[in-house]
Amino acid sequence: MLKGTQQPATSAPDTDGWIKSTCPYCGVGCGIEARVEDGHMLVRGDQSHPANYGRLCSKGLALGETVINDGRLLEPSINGEPVPWDTALDHVAKAFQDSIRRHGPDSVALYVSGQLLTEDYYVANKLVKGYIGTGNIDTNSRLCMSSSVAGHKRAFGSDTVPNCYQDFEQADMVVLVGSNLAWCHPVLYQRLKAAKQQRPELSIVVVDPRVTDSVELADLHLAIQPGTDVALFNGLLNYLAENDYLNHAYTEQHTRGLADALASARQDTGKDGADFTLISTVTGVPVEHLQRFYKHFATTEKVLTVYSQGVNQSSAGVDKVNSIINCHLCTGRIGKIGSGPFSVTGQPNAMGGREVGGLANMLAAHMEFGNKEHQQIVKAFWQVDTIAEKPGLKAVDLFDAVDAGKIKVIWIMATNPVVSMPDADKVKRALEKCPLVVVSDCIADTDTVRCADIVLPAMGWAEKSGTVTNSERRISRQRQLIASSGQAKADWWIICQVALRMGYAGFNFNAAADVFREYAQMTGFHNQGRRDLDISPLAKLTNDGYDQLAPQQWPIKQQPVKTQLSPAVDQMPEQKRFFAEGQFYTANGKANLVPVSYRPPMTQASRQYPMALNTGRIRDQWHTMTRTGLAPKLGAHKPEPYVQINPQDARSFQLQNGAIAQLNSKWGQAKARVVITADIKPGQLFMPMHWTAVDSSEGRVCTLISPDVDPISGQPESKFTPVAIQPWVYQEQAILISRDAIAVSKFDYWVKRKIEGGFCYYLANHQDKPLLVQHLKSLPAFTKKGECIAFENKNNGSYRAANMLNGELLGAYIVARASNASPLDASQYAWLDTLLARELSTDIQRSILSGQAADSLVSGKQICACKQVGEYTIRDAIQQQACNSVAAVSACTQAGTGCGSCVPEIKQLIGMYAERDL
Ligand code: SF4
Repeated sequence: MLKGTQQPATSAPDTDGWIKSTCPYCGVGCGIEARVEDGHMLVRGDQSHPANYGRLCSKGLALGETVINDGRLLEPSINGEPVPWDTALDHVAKAFQDSIRRHGPDSVALYVSGQLLTEDYYVANKLVKGYIGTGNIDTNSRLCMSSSVAGHKRAFGSDTVPNCYQDFEQADMVVLVGSNLAWCHPVLYQRLKAAKQQRPELSIVVVDPRVTDSVELADLHLAIQPGTDVALFNGLLNYLAENDYLNHAYTEQHTRGLADALASARQDTGKDGADFTLISTVTGVPVEHLQRFYKHFATTEKVLTVYSQGVNQSSAGVDKVNSIINCHLCTGRIGKIGSGPFSVTGQPNAMGGREVGGLANMLAAHMEFGNKEHQQIVKAFWQVDTIAEKPGLKAVDLFDAVDAGKIKVIWIMATNPVVSMPDADKVKRALEKCPLVVVSDCIADTDTVRCADIVLPAMGWAEKSGTVTNSERRISRQRQLIASSGQAKADWWIICQVALRMGYAGFNFNAAADVFREYAQMTGFHNQGRRDLDISPLAKLTNDGYDQLAPQQWPIKQQPVKTQLSPAVDQMPEQKRFFAEGQFYTANGKANLVPVSYRPPMTQASRQYPMALNTGRIRDQWHTMTRTGLAPKLGAHKPEPYVQINPQDARSFQLQNGAIAQLNSKWGQAKARVVITADIKPGQLFMPMHWTAVDSSEGRVCTLISPDVDPISGQPESKFTPVAIQPWVYQEQAILISRDAIAVSKFDYWVKRKIEGGFCYYLANHQDKPLLVQHLKSLPAFTKKGECIAFENKNNGSYRAANMLNGELLGAYIVARASNASPLDASQYAWLDTLLARELSTDIQRSILSGQAADSLVSGKQICACKQVGEYTIRDAIQQQACNSVAAVSACTQAGTGCGSCVPEIKQLIGMYAERDL
């Protein structure tokens, strides 16, 4: 139930109570409409938003469930003691001033986030680079797409994304590289899928070491060896040159460096033309697949290459980006309808952060360190005597400097680096010994908040007002939907208050609109078309105009500003693409073809650490789950940290499906549930990135991850870390449901997940430890005087119990003797998830005692998060109703009729159960 149901402070567009805003998760930047009804927030897709035209994925559809007060950070505190805002702000300002005075500006730092709004980001950067005079502000976008930024700048002379989403529909060939679009940018995937359905001749190639759900659409899947993308695209460049597919007119007029780029490509992939055997040996892609891909790319004019973290998160990330861009430049396939290299960002406002200089190596408004004119422009605009003269420390170096005691005060905003940074234990240790750690967040308990000395409550998604920019350069308003919780404040306001207390002028903003107007003005300041980013007409927006601002792609070089709510995209005077005229932002106006050479990941597998660990996101969760973890239905699809392993490796390491594995690397260790699958090749592992120390004993994958970074972008190599894997030996497993959270210190392995009415825990203890039942019996849910029922089978070591009071189930657990050789299949007990939300019945009691769900309780592992449809419901539709197509299953069960992200799994189930039936 929502507390903040008062009217929001802004006058946002409102149709029948529905307020338009933007989804706060991935970089697709979908438009939503929200309305509070009976104390609950309803969310639906905005039909008129050009990013999604009404579509939302499972995360967007569940947004309303996450706008609750559970776990919110409500008041400022110092060393755990609540304090008034003034005290906290004074303390932060004084700590920064003291450190700067005693140790210089480089002794302080901000680590910010792609979750911040552009207005927040702008003032944070202005404070650090403009007034404090250090470059030490970096952002978690460093972990997401900084290699793309560096690649763009090398090639185009600017961090420009040339494409727009319509290119997904207008391309004749789409190449997805290092992108599980189906799970990580689901609405773009749905657009691509719709395009493929309309035009089956649209060719889709997926380049990914794993078989992901995105492969479902692919005409060709190139399962490359991790990190070999440069060899693949250098081979393509070589092939294009050898077979006379280069666009010489274009390269001569609009590019430079072709000869050197080609020489590097030939060095890598064959001096006398593309040597398919050589390329195949390096990339692991069969020769005939390479031939098909190269030929098709060469002969298709409208090719869109979409890439994401699989390319960026690498010690060769920038070279990978340039190897892709090279192939587009040398064929002139850029800036044209349906073609170009398209970096899609992970975070909702990674692009906004790039615009205002959120990365340590950038100045605001797409201006650069090292460019004297840009530095003068920034100084003049902000009317400051000095600004930072050199780039600041990038994320990994920044936390190393904290660890080394060089940074003495750090302020972390809206991000959770103790979970998401590589070598995450080192980051935790660094923060624990840092003299002062300030954390602004909207969530009270995160791994990073636990390390903070001063905690500042920030507004959450539904409370904030400002703008975000999505992957296609579209600025959308994020509007305040409800009043703020507790004493939470807007991030821009908190930053400005600290700046003013430090005696800095230039932070007297009254509203987010003021900040936006100043930022918009800066983009046009001494620009005259020399910089790509220009939204200066928006500096004239009135407050009402700002509130009413429709989604708007930049650049915006001329009036009028649209004030209609959401005009159709074709009516907008937008420049959808960059570089149509072949003019780039380099000194001579020509794009650079950058010579790049393949090099393998920095740390190679060894005898001690023989497996290559890949990491990534799952369909229904976002980042460290501080918000998506609040929605029970989003937790059911992948309920525990898991590690994917090939059957051959599982045999070698004696791992059973569903057992618990321990993973070790040079940097740390983690535990995860084993998933054996041929979707991953021998020698490789995959683990998702979401679990934290708040919701799991050892599910933080980033403790394992190598801190190796790309030498140019500083982006960590999160897709390749050599690890060892082995069974973790345990003697019992339990699944517990409880209305209240439990103390977990007595359990060696635990994972906590929110369910309707309470929490679900997966538990296991090491074989040397006391039996789980002893601990479980002592939990509050079972010591309360109620009606306790229990069943024990001493022969097989199983124990099942429940406690009920006043006709309500307080908690229940199922314990099984289990081991690596014979693990408990937790998916068989998915029905436990629903019990706390049901009326207590004899069916429930019987099911708990028998360990067998009554028919009325069974739906199996959740497949469709939007419509809450489980595997057994789909199985029954396939087997009993003869539903042998997705359409038939959807008609029968509703599964797949929400966001559509579960369709690949429905197809798999049809294959599985229809086959069995035969
Ligand atoms: Fe949000 Fe999903 Fe759209 Fe991404 S694709 S912005 S997570 S609704």
